Amino acid sequence: MGLIVQKYGGTSVGSVERIQAVAQRVKATVQAGHQVVVVVSAMGKTTDGLVKLAQDISPNPCRREMDMLLSTGEQVSISLLSMALQALGQPAISLTGAQVGIVTEPAHTRARILHIETQRLERHLKEGKVVVVAGFQGVTAAEDFEVTTLGRGGSDTSAVALAAALAANCCEIYTDVPGILTTDPRLVPDAQLMDAITCDEMLELASLGAKVLHPRAVEIARNYGVDLVVRSSWTDEPGTRVISPVRQPRPVENLELGRPVDGVKLDTDQAKVALLRVADRPGVAAQLFGELAQQDLDVDLIIQSIHEGNTNDIAFTVQKASLNQAEAVATAFSPLLRNKNGSTRDSAEVLIDRDIAKVSITGAGMIGRPGVAAQMFSALAAAGINLQMISTSEVNVSCTVMAVDAGRAVALLSQTFDVEMVSQPDWPDQTTEYPAVRGVALDGKQARLAIRDVPDRPGMAATIFQRLADAGISVDMIIQSQRSRSLNGVISRDIAFTVAEGDGDGAHHLLKDAQRDYHWGEVLLDRAIAKVSIVGVGMIHRPGVAAQMFAALAQANINIQMIATSEIRVSCVVAEADGIAALQAIHRAFHLGA
Ligand code: ASP
Ligand code: MG
Repeated sequence: MGLIVQKYGGTSVGSVERIQAVAQRVKATVQAGHQVVVVVSAMGKTTDGLVKLAQDISPNPCRREMDMLLSTGEQVSISLLSMALQALGQPAISLTGAQVGIVTEPAHTRARILHIETQRLERHLKEGKVVVVAGFQGVTAAEDFEVTTLGRGGSDTSAVALAAALAANCCEIYTDVPGILTTDPRLVPDAQLMDAITCDEMLELASLGAKVLHPRAVEIARNYGVDLVVRSSWTDEPGTRVISPVRQPRPVENLELGRPVDGVKLDTDQAKVALLRVADRPGVAAQLFGELAQQDLDVDLIIQSIHEGNTNDIAFTVQKASLNQAEAVATAFSPLLRNKNGSTRDSAEVLIDRDIAKVSITGAGMIGRPGVAAQMFSALAAAGINLQMISTSEVNVSCTVMAVDAGRAVALLSQTFDVEMVSQPDWPDQTTEYPAVRGVALDGKQARLAIRDVPDRPGMAATIFQRLADAGISVDMIIQSQRSRSLNGVISRDIAFTVAEGDGDGAHHLLKDAQRDYHWGEVLLDRAIAKVSIVGVGMIHRPGVAAQMFAALAQANINIQMIATSEIRVSCVVAEADGIAALQAIHRAFHLGA
């Protein structure tokens, strides 16, 4: 006999009939010999309706009263579900977040869970009752006992937090889709259901998966090793398993205030190859990385940033032992990659650097917390360590630094983020048994900013991203270009990054204001971009995965504007108009369709 936490979303409890169907499923689970805690959302679109009511009264309602209002939605569904269970002869009791003791920080409308009292829940379970808990809400600690909510979509987080606190055997998230799909089925009709995905992949796909599963819920599952399943409340299909690494037990306190960063990594066995001034046309990256893959060279970081005129710079890292071979490929290819009308000035140039190391920070807690990357850059800048390549993804920031600085850099970062240095990530041992690509995501709601001629000295990246963080702007993909320029003896590089489309203007103004103070060049904003990403734990140590993505784009005649990678993700920025075609081409290239 085990303890199962089941969570039912708004549509799953959207009507009397649906609530009765849920009651049947819960009862069947009890009859199969399990104890059950149920977490429910508000019925249907109730929460949206309440938000609308508030807005009709005040354009800017106070957050505390919003929590008072929105928390009522879940109170309706818990009582009705409890009645439905009782009507089936199944003893049940409904409890609000406050009655359970889901204790949160006092941040109204976006509170994080600190801990959960389990005594009362356990008592009712022992009495043979199903406990029906209101999702999305909590209460602050004594003396105030203020009602809080966790942010929209927060019931998933309530459910996984309860599963962690109760050490449940499993947490099942019931929703109106069959599980997690390889990509957005509205854009790619043959998107397929996955039977499993790791938490790390799910987090890297946050922009894709967030609609199905709140990233904060995935973070808790990952940190506490909660077994998670996403499945349909309409069928008995098994859905998608979200796999967590096996964890040492850890105290169930500060549940969600877990650190933004949970690992600092150092890789000294890396060397850099950079190609400067390659032609800016479809197929260039595909040709280069295709040949590297052909020779079985395992490429780690890949970076292509914004460019001037009609040429690009592409830089990548390989293991030191492969450097000579990689350099040979790059050199052999450089004449082919130059502009067709290539004057000597336009010919590609190959640079190598053996004396580098890669330092990375990883952590699910970076999602939705602006400023983590800035904190990393600041810590390194304060120690006078210059950043060479920068590449970020949803849950990872990697930089290359000079090899002599590496030891100092990781020591500093471990201290700054108060975490141990890990030499190996906790990927499953045999990553090659996993699919190279689990899912593909398109994010068309992004804007790109670029700052030209940022002086190449410690502290510039820190300044830029700290300013954005202070303004509450989350930065998505950061890339520092390879090419440097020398102006009056000052070496400079370009830095480009993407933000949510809605933050584009804000970021643009802010950086233009700072431009004079820091002697940057132009600040450019481009709204017409889209980001396509492939994600898969199986791409680690499997040469050629990025090349295959680039080849798919080349075949569709789509130009790649920027590239950034993490260990389990490759992202490309393309023109917005090419976004959907890019997604479809890549999905097809990896045979992810039905
Ligand atoms: N009812 C809340 C919302 O719509 C919480 C949830 O459904 O997860 O955001
Ligand atoms: Mg939801």
